Amino acid sequence: MVEIKIDLEKCDGDGTCVDVCPVEVLEVKDGKAVVINLDECLVCRACEVQCPNNAIEIIE
Ligand code: SF4
Repeated sequence: MVEIKIDLEKCDGDGTCVDVCPVEVLEVKDGKAVVINLDECLVCRACEVQCPNNAIEIIE
C-alpha cells in the first residue's frame, strides 16, 4: 500500500497536486492538500515531482 506524506509546513495549498493527479486522489481543504482517495493512487509520482514546494513524498 502506498503512503502519501504531505508536509503541512511546506504545503501552501496552491493545488498543483490536485491539478496534476490523473485520478483525483488529492484535494485542497482549508489551504492544505489532503488525501481523499488513497485507494485510487497509481503511484505515478506526478504530485511529488511537480509540487513547487516539495511538500509531497510518495512512499511505497
Ligand atoms: S502519485 Fe499520481 S496518482 Fe498518486 S496522488 Fe500523486 S499524482 Fe495522484
